[in-house]
Amino acid sequence: MNLIDRITQFQSEIQQIRRDFHAHPELRFEERRTSDLVAKYLTQWGIEVHRGLGGTGVVGVIRNGTSGRSVGLRADMDALPIQEANRFAHASTYAGKMHACGHDGHTAMLLGAAKYLAEAKPFDGTVNLIFQPAEEGGAGAQKMIDDGLFDRFPCDAVFGMHNWPGLRVGQFGFAPGPMMASGNLFEITVRGKGAHAAMPHQGVDPVFVAVQVVQGLQGIITRSKQPIDAAVLSVTIIRAGDATNVVPDDAFISGTVRTFEDRVTDHIEERMRRIAELTAEAHEAQAEVKFVRYYPPTVNHAEQSSFAADVAEEIVGAANIVRSVEPTMGSEDFSFMLRARPGAYFWIGNGDGAHRTSGHGLGPCQLHNPSFDFNDELLPLGATYWVRLAERYLAR
Ligand SMILES: [Zn+2]
Ligand SMILES: [Zn+2]
Repeated sequence: MNLIDRITQFQSEIQQIRRDFHAHPELRFEERRTSDLVAKYLTQWGIEVHRGLGGTGVVGVIRNGTSGRSVGLRADMDALPIQEANRFAHASTYAGKMHACGHDGHTAMLLGAAKYLAEAKPFDGTVNLIFQPAEEGGAGAQKMIDDGLFDRFPCDAVFGMHNWPGLRVGQFGFAPGPMMASGNLFEITVRGKGAHAAMPHQGVDPVFVAVQVVQGLQGIITRSKQPIDAAVLSVTIIRAGDATNVVPDDAFISGTVRTFEDRVTDHIEERMRRIAELTAEAHEAQAEVKFVRYYPPTVNHAEQSSFAADVAEEIVGAANIVRSVEPTMGSEDFSFMLRARPGAYFWIGNGDGAHRTSGHGLGPCQLHNPSFDFNDELLPLGATYWVRLAERYLAR
């Protein structure tokens, strides 16, 4: 691996910062301590700091030379409401909160890059270091955009990196198009009419209707959308009734829909409304459908993705680059940044968990698992990669 020597020299400082973040995880929009520290380090290293975007978001700006070109590098800072199972020294000190998605590592890798970029200034142009809040369900990326992120800090392109347990350390994964799915939530309330369970004909049974609606919804996936359009529809909640001898007034159905294209989401939402409403109507009940699109699909721009893969290849060699990873049905709010600017999102392999120090939990080292830990070996690699990416992008 072609790591930048200077970065390996201060690697232990960045590791300490990462482990300190890990020990003090903060949930979406509450990243006050984390963003204070990010701002403190950037300032210490002589970097111009802007705060308050999307609440706790921080932007560091490093300028050099005369070029008008600019690039944005993004890290997320928030943790998850999970009780950590690890007991090693840097385990979470906050009950019920944990860096189980490795955003502690993302923030630390970008800080490592920031320190080197500010010191060596190996580029001509402007690097915007974007530290965003609330990736986990809060759409922090969109909140920063709403607060003028790309107007105040123009970026010709923007890049985002996530650690990925499915890949070995030293591997990188890219995709020239869709990489992660859209995340959409639906809630269907079926309103019937309560009755004695022994005299159902005197009411309208919402449970009976809800069951048919759920069956009908899967028909969208198997019979109605084009077979080659990937999509998942999972009903995860059905709630109705409190007694065995009472037909309840209403029933509640909820779940998630994942797709890689808005066109497919549109189709599913439209079909879902008709199936719920008309099935209910057929049985003299009513259905109310709420469909919320919380994250769009994460779709890379082919040119930026291939450029980012070329840069990674210089560091880890062609054998360690996957240029077309299989997309996942998980979702990611970097998607909003990719809608606003050209760019790419990619994965850096986190390994199989063998890096975990003694005292780790017994579960697998997977994202959102209480036994997860970010792999500190990635710190100099990720920081080197960010530096090279900025350098090469601005030199184009
Ligand atoms: Zn996550
Ligand atoms: Zn994450």
